[in-house]
Amino acid sequence: MSAGAPTVGVLALQGDVREHLAALRAEGAVAVPVRRPAELAAVDGLVLPGGESTTIAKLAVRFGLMDPLRAAVRAGLPVYGSCAGMVLLADRLVDAPAGQETVGGLDVTVRRNAFGRQVDSFESTLRLEGPDLGGEPVPAVFIRAPWVERAGAGVEVLGRVVGGEGDGKIVAVRQGDLLATSFHPELTGDRRVHALFVEIVRDARGHRSGAVAGEERRPS
Ligand code: GLN
Repeated sequence: MSAGAPTVGVLALQGDVREHLAALRAEGAVAVPVRRPAELAAVDGLVLPGGESTTIAKLAVRFGLMDPLRAAVRAGLPVYGSCAGMVLLADRLVDAPAGQETVGGLDVTVRRNAFGRQVDSFESTLRLEGPDLGGEPVPAVFIRAPWVERAGAGVEVLGRVVGGEGDGKIVAVRQGDLLATSFHPELTGDRRVHALFVEIVRDARGHRSGAVAGEERRPS
């Protein structure tokens, strides 16, 4: 692992940016807002926050960030999308306005506002899977939340809704260094998802800087 805290950006065009910055800092990252391509180029990982995905996508196009975001995901930048951020990471959408753009990269079909129009928000507890997320169920806040309708073969399902509307629906996934949740862990104080993401970023950076350090090492 390389020395020093990883730098994790939060896309700061709209949505609950501050809460993610705070959760990332609490997990030991240097957390910075990202609004411009130069700021994107300087981070080791990126959070796409909750908010309104149509608005965030339009602003990303207007700020000249959409193509750099797509290129960064293709190049392997670790990205965590929460709620609207999950929508933005999805390769395919259902129940979205015609022509809604996404960053893409995550091989899933995501249904927007999936839990029914009258149920704008609710809280639940979820048992998440995987070594870093297991143990006690995590509190989950859903706000006009999407779910994953279909997940591609390379996508690991980390969590599903248990009971009630949406029973069995997929609400947490990972594909390599891409992570997405339908819910908002930045609002509950349970930081396991942020801890996992910071760990993903650290590992990814370790691999990259390990390669660079190897090339630069010279006999003394
Ligand atoms: N319904 C919103 C969207 O599709 C997401 C809501 C949220 O992020 N809390 O963009």
